[in-house]
Amino acid sequence: MPELPEVETVRRGLQELIVRRSIATESHDTVKGFPNAPADVAAFLIGATITTVRRRAKVLLIDLSSDYTLVIHLKMTGQLVYRGEQVFGAGHPNESLIGKLPDRSTRVTIEFTDGSYLYFNDQRKFGWMRLMPTVEVPNIEFMKKVGPEPLEADFTPQEFAGRFMRRSKTSIKAALLDQSVIAGVGNIYADESLWGAKIHPNRLVNTITDKEFQVLYTELREVMNLAIEKGGSTDKNYVTAEGKRGSYMDFARAFRREGLPCPRCATEIIKFKVAGRGTHICPSCQLL
Ligand SMILES: [Zn+2]
Repeated sequence: MPELPEVETVRRGLQELIVRRSIATESHDTVKGFPNAPADVAAFLIGATITTVRRRAKVLLIDLSSDYTLVIHLKMTGQLVYRGEQVFGAGHPNESLIGKLPDRSTRVTIEFTDGSYLYFNDQRKFGWMRLMPTVEVPNIEFMKKVGPEPLEADFTPQEFAGRFMRRSKTSIKAALLDQSVIAGVGNIYADESLWGAKIHPNRLVNTITDKEFQVLYTELREVMNLAIEKGGSTDKNYVTAEGKRGSYMDFARAFRREGLPCPRCATEIIKFKVAGRGTHICPSCQLL
């Protein structure tokens, strides 16, 4: 599933390429992936110009000159691909990022007046693209519940530690994955930041010291920023606005490295389940 850095990669690429373009036509296959009234589409999408591309947690927000917003959730396998003089695609890593489009995974096709295209592809069809008035976006249930953005400049280590108090009796990994605690943290960055902070994922939140929270805060921001810099976490078919492929996985230190040596102490990384998710740790560095 795309995590915050991958969605941020999508946002940055689209911000560069689709802002100021005007929408000529729209087509979609199922109403589930594009649950919008045809009258709204005709009035507020067709003919509108894209003003900005925002992100909140893992949700993308494409603002339009009509004061409507396309709210997009990529879910498990969503991806957005822009094809014009420049090409860009990010999200779920598969051949559709670089192959001929539309293809079988294409749910929504948006054609701009200059003849370029934006494709919303989603193999497993859990994602969606919803058109709504921009002022109503903050009232979506998810937006009301979701925690603060971990990469915002004004997000402090004290605020970070304070967010976990609501989950004081659960494991630190479960709390990190809880979107109401911190926005956008998924499995990769939970494992990587816990390895960086030398914290065992099964430790209860109320056993984590202030000092440990401070280190975890720094590690989480570092791994997410590094991933954004590298264009997301995947190692295949991840194309950035500049045509570069994402490479964060090359830099992962614990995630999906079971059986390989810990970069810090050379102990073999092991994998087991925490909070129902495959979890990777160094059993020497991260003690329970
Ligand atoms: Zn180690």
